Amino acid sequence: MAKISLRNIEKRYDATLVLHDCSLDIADHEFMVLVGPSGSGKTTLLRIIAGLERVSGGEVFFDDACVNDVDVGDRDIAMVFQNYGLYPHMSVYDNMAFGLRRRKLATADIDARVRRTAQLLDIEPLLARRPRQLSGGQRQRVALGRAIVRDPAVFLLDEPLSNLDAHLRVQMRAEILKVHRAVTATAVYVTHDQVEALTMGDRIVVMNGGRIHQVGTPGELYDRPVDRFVASFIGTPQMGFVECHVERIADRLELTTPAARIDLVDRDVQLQSGNRVTIGIRPECLALLSDADAQSADVAVRGTVQVVEMLGAEHYVHVATDGGALTARVPRHQSVKVDETVTFAASARDVHLFDADTGRALR
Ligand code: ADP
Repeated sequence: MAKISLRNIEKRYDATLVLHDCSLDIADHEFMVLVGPSGSGKTTLLRIIAGLERVSGGEVFFDDACVNDVDVGDRDIAMVFQNYGLYPHMSVYDNMAFGLRRRKLATADIDARVRRTAQLLDIEPLLARRPRQLSGGQRQRVALGRAIVRDPAVFLLDEPLSNLDAHLRVQMRAEILKVHRAVTATAVYVTHDQVEALTMGDRIVVMNGGRIHQVGTPGELYDRPVDRFVASFIGTPQMGFVECHVERIADRLELTTPAARIDLVDRDVQLQSGNRVTIGIRPECLALLSDADAQSADVAVRGTVQVVEMLGAEHYVHVATDGGALTARVPRHQSVKVDETVTFAASARDVHLFDADTGRALR
């Protein structure tokens, strides 16, 4: 069991700072996901937790002990990588037993642990096989098994599912969570896939450019992104953004563009006439309306249909407005054609507001 604290972590490679002042608390037995685009610093942060990289600044704590000077072998962690890292000349059983034998555990104890773990992962019939005689999904299970058989305090996973096909990835996500529930370890899981992050994380850390943008539960990140980067990275299809400026009309503030009318009556935000604001609306919050009905909506946006993607039960309709692009989820029975001019309505409470210059959410 371990809680992990990162305090003001910096990492420099020569003159380049790749992690900027990263602070994070991971609770005991939490499943924490680090997500962000390629190059955002996720793997570097994971390797720092593992002890495979030294920090250039800041401190790493396991429970209340600073582990900055503790070697990887003494940190009570186990890692699972994208490329499995199994020993090809050893059976599945020996791959799983290897670390335990090195720690000189009794043979009967090793056997009990390997069999219990194999049962948990449904790989008992494979114990005598070599890695090359396994499918990708089976290899990934063995790699997981080899990590959890050691009963570590911390379980670190770096893109463990990226070599698997889409169907198997979905199945293995559920398996990894099942395994995590069955053990006491704290888990830190790196992925560039926001769907994986949303479906797996107790909490998620969103990273970009070596910085932590936001830490929160999947619901918090989806409903209350702190900035435009998090808003656009979390959720698929992406949130759409339209640039507006604020106008005072009689006693009310309205956001206007030639394409949109947004009534801010009930929003508790400090805006002045003339401010530039970016609005963000998620695809499921837009409803296709006739122009007449749109008059009574809090928010109405006009645009031209660029692309219609058919997804079975619904369409994704991509619309260009003169302030930016929006995507809407439209039920299949509502027919929409490319080049058509359409009006979408949304409720004011579903509109996210961002400072157009800094990208910070306005609340
Ligand atoms: P991610 O896991 O999010 O894709 P990484 O942590 O691998 O990102 O990399 C973050 C940044 O650090 C990248 O710009 C990468 O090029 C740089 N980087 C990673 N490892 C090294 C290294 N050993 N030497 C120099 N730069 C590195």
